[in-house]
Amino acid sequence: MAQCPICGRTVDEVAARQSTGFTAHGASETDPTKGTRQFHDGKWVYFDSLECRSKFLTNPEQYTRTA
Ligand SMILES: [Zn+2]
Repeated sequence: MAQCPICGRTVDEVAARQSTGFTAHGASETDPTKGTRQFHDGKWVYFDSLECRSKFLTNPEQYTRTA
């Protein structure tokens, strides 16, 4: 399971991926009822909702800081 970096809820990454009509260019088109994801800094980041993804996109560095 992936974890939403915004609120900490777990995300079913399989469901998020299966509902995705994403393009090879990193754009994501997902079913927001099953979670969504965003390609960021070389990896997929999973979110439980579009609201969380919107927060992430507003300030991704705040949520991807690892050290
Ligand atoms: Zn969330």
